[in-house]
Amino acid sequence: MHTFELIRAADGRQAMAAADTGASRFLAGGTNLLDLMKLDVEQPRQVVDINRLPYNTIEALADGGLRIGALVRNSDLAHDPQVQQRYPVLSQALLAGASVQLRNMATTGGNLLQRTRCVYFRDTAMACNKRQPGSGCAAIGGFNRTMAVLGTSDACIATNPSDMNVALMALEATIRVEGRAGTRAIPIGQFYLLPGDTPQRETVLEPGDLITHVDLAAPAPAARSVYLKLRDRASYEFALASAAVIASVADGRISGVRVALGGVGTRPWRALEAEQALEGAAVGAPAFAQAAQAALRGARPQSENGFKIELAKRCLMQALRTVTTS
Ligand code: SF4
Repeated sequence: MHTFELIRAADGRQAMAAADTGASRFLAGGTNLLDLMKLDVEQPRQVVDINRLPYNTIEALADGGLRIGALVRNSDLAHDPQVQQRYPVLSQALLAGASVQLRNMATTGGNLLQRTRCVYFRDTAMACNKRQPGSGCAAIGGFNRTMAVLGTSDACIATNPSDMNVALMALEATIRVEGRAGTRAIPIGQFYLLPGDTPQRETVLEPGDLITHVDLAAPAPAARSVYLKLRDRASYEFALASAAVIASVADGRISGVRVALGGVGTRPWRALEAEQALEGAAVGAPAFAQAAQAALRGARPQSENGFKIELAKRCLMQALRTVTTS
């Protein structure tokens, strides 16, 4: 591991000033950053510990929504009564991720910025455009069973690994950020970038930007939600495919539907085409199949991960069955 300067920030202003150079990293739970530093994938000159900042509460908003502090631990968020009762898709997604020990440390803000688990990204001996721009992509033509089939480019096919982010995408969360330009509210649909030719750039954040909160809108009164995750083993494993679905059902018809997929996209994947196929449709297998087809229409398989396309379709259809019949 390389040497670095550790700065314990007393407030947000100090944290942002210390991290303004682009060679700094914020330290919250450390479950991802410290791993990557030990592997020499991340080599920050400064590590800015933000754990003393006042962003560790979950507050009800006057409009019926919820404001989640960036430092709220994944376990605390998953078990919060408001989240369990009003946003079950988020609680389920959090509990499907990692292990108990990791969830006890990992934070909301850190999870939003979780890096890919691509094995070549984590191995400094291998070519990786995301880690070292211009070096190539060892996963294309290499071991790519777990890689993405949606949103890929010729430069990078890495999957966004988070479960929480998929639920937040379906919930249309808003990410609140403090930075040089003051406070910004970024809809999560505009937060993640596709890899394109610059896979090293994963979000719209600029150096020094600090995620402070995540806001959720009030759920629709009759809405139900579910998160379904399919993986190689029952726990402590990343998704091969997952689906977050929110929908209301009245008189046998679906409305207010939101669909997001995990394990298959280079970013948490909002499936707008599936939503369009489902809105107003009669509950049943034909609508679910049409939605699954629409969600994966743009999928581009690699040499080893073509199975994910059918797996993701079945995952989405099962999630739709669950949410419309429970
Ligand atoms: Fe790197 Fe992306 Fe290729 Fe993995 S898929 S080796 S992260 S460029």
